[in-house]
Order: sequence, then structure tokens, then C-alpha cells
Amino acid sequence: MKADPETSTFLIAGPVRIHPRVLRAMSFPSVNHRGDYFHGIVHEIRELLPVLFGAKGHQVVLSGSGTAGLEAVYSSLLRKGQRTLVLTNGNFGERTDKIARRYADPVTTLAAPWGQHIPVEEAKAELEKGDVRAVCAVLNETSVGLQNDLAALAPAVKRSGALFLVDGISAVAGIPCKIEEWGFDAVIAGSQKGLAAPAGLAIVHLSDRARSELQGGTFYLDLAAHLANLDKDDTPWTPAIPLFLALREALLLLKEETLEGRLARTHQLAEATRAATAALGLALFPDPAHASDTVTAIRNPDGLDDARVRKALLARYNVAVQGGQGALTGKIFRIGHMGIADWPDLLVTFAALERILGHAGKLPRPGVALGEIAARMPAPA
Ligand code: PLP
Repeated sequence: MKADPETSTFLIAGPVRIHPRVLRAMSFPSVNHRGDYFHGIVHEIRELLPVLFGAKGHQVVLSGSGTAGLEAVYSSLLRKGQRTLVLTNGNFGERTDKIARRYADPVTTLAAPWGQHIPVEEAKAELEKGDVRAVCAVLNETSVGLQNDLAALAPAVKRSGALFLVDGISAVAGIPCKIEEWGFDAVIAGSQKGLAAPAGLAIVHLSDRARSELQGGTFYLDLAAHLANLDKDDTPWTPAIPLFLALREALLLLKEETLEGRLARTHQLAEATRAATAALGLALFPDPAHASDTVTAIRNPDGLDDARVRKALLARYNVAVQGGQGALTGKIFRIGHMGIADWPDLLVTFAALERILGHAGKLPRPGVALGEIAARMPAPA
């Protein structure tokens, strides 16, 4: 077996595997984005977006990756002269901090060490000072495989009157994101994660208040312009047409499965991944109490570097998982189990991991991880 991107077992932390129905949707001749056919597609997408967010609101699709969505939101809702609170505990929290600092001043950053939960009590204390305009946080910190418990912070944000702006890029359609209950004013999703569409679209949900406070921002990502056009099933500039066609199909697939169904499957896959990891004698990188359901971050086994684990998975078993970012490069590997990932993906990945650890003399017992997965697979109907 050798690496082959067309046939690999593909469990990186996003982009994720794409269903053939979604791939086929992109194989379509050019269409006039100002014509009736494409307006019909945009109309359908608008009607389907509440399925993705589990809430109604002002929802818009931007041509650009998830970071475009972050920039669209922060550039138009943060203000110079009003305080922004940023909570970070990984690479993407740090990205939020960098973007926020372009558009807001002052910015107070509360950082936890990578892999530890964001400092909720410190954040509450800052909010009690009463001068915070907006709180920016990442719901699922992909870089360290950790879910932040933003529900625990939500009442304090609400009491303070601050806007709650949430990077939900690897959370939406992967872990619970209760927009209305937790009072999120903006949630940014990425097409390439829980939704299992191709990379290249950012999907943004805004509350009534957030929409009413949009101001300034970048020209290309002007959310007010995008929303005004979307109300007419239109987009302000030429959109990434093939990606919109794929988005509609991915949303239809999600509707067929239901959001609850996808969250439940993602959770079961995550539990099986964690149990199999423990059975191999490997440790999670993040605080296990907050381990993410969309991506599991695992410390490299003692004495086995990236080349012997992740690169061997790809070269010998055609299994793609992801390495660490920044300071975690070579120290952890990450298994994504969101979108349309399913049980066979885990079986293949852990069978290959067992082989690699076995060759290195580090496998507790053959079948030990596979047994944990099999034990958690739903019984046949
Ligand atoms: N935020 C989070 C939590 C992410 O997981 C990612 C991508 O992995 C991003 C932001 C950046 O998204 P993109 O690479 O689509 O711009």
C-alpha cells in the first residue's frame, strides 16, 4: 500500500472527506451568477442554513476560508476606543487575537496554556468591570483538540451586555453550539469541517443586535452588503459558484442526517477514538475533561517521532491524520472525526496504528484498540 490522496482514509482535522454527491455537485458548467438558476441555488442555501446552525438569524455565505469569516465579523463589530476581551488557549485563539488587534483597541487577552481550558473565572472578573464591548472566543480549539465550555461563560457575557463573537469553525455541525441559549451574537463556521463541504467558504450567523451594529469593516467582506444582497438571493461580487453548488448538496446531506444525528455520531466516534487511544497506552494532549468531539489530539508515543507514526500511517497504510501546529509540531498528532467520518475510518486508522506500534514493540496487545472501537459501534439494525 502507498499514499494515494484519491483513495486515502482521510482523517485530518479539516478539510474532511467529501461525499461523492457533494463532489458531483461541483462538476457543473459555468452558470450566470446573476441568472435565475443561480438565484434559485442561493435561495435554497438560505433556507437550509438554519439546519447547519440549529438556529435562525442573519446568515451569510462568504467566498473565502474560515479566516475570512473571522475577519468579516471582527472588522465590522469591534471598535477602536472600546475594550475587547479575547480568550485563547491555542493556535486559533491566537489568530483571533491577531485579527482583533487590527480592528479593536484596547484588547485584553486572557490566555491559558495550550491544551488547558480558557480562564473562565478571570474572564468573568474582567466582564464585571462593565466596559467590555465584545468577547471573542473559540468554541473548539482545533490545534489542541479541546472544547471550550462557553456555556459556562455565557450568563456573565449576557449580564455584562457585551457582544459574544464565537469562532465555531471546527465546532458547527460537530459539537453542540446552542446559539440562542448561549446568546452568541456571531458564529463563524467553515465549509470544510463538520459540514463536510469543500474548503473555501465561510458561513456566518449574526444575531439581530450584531446585524444592527455592523459598521466599517473590509470592503470585500462587508457583511452588511452581503446580507442585503442575500435578501434578494444574490451576492455582491462573483461568488465561488462551484463551492456554492457543493454547499447546497452538503446542506441537503446534513438535513437528511439531521443536525442532532450528526452531532450524536461525531460524539460516538470521538468516544471510541479516546478509548482506543487509551487502550494503546497513548495520552491525550488536552485536559481530558475538555477533549474535543471533532478532533482528538494525541501525544506522540515515547521514542516515536512524527516520521515513525504519522508519516508511516500515510506511506504504509494510506491513512492521513494531522500533525501538530506551532510549538506542537512533531509532538502530537491529531485525528479528525467530524463531517461524514464513520466507523470504518476509525477501524482502518487504528488497525494501522496497532501495526506501527507493534513493529516498534510498543503495542500492549494486538486488537486492543480495535476491540474498543468495535465495542462502541452501533449494533446492526
Ligand atoms: N479557527 C479554527 C477553530 C479552525 O479550526 C480553523 C482551521 O482549521 C480556522 C480558524 C481557520 O480556518 P481557515 O483555515 O478555513 O481559514
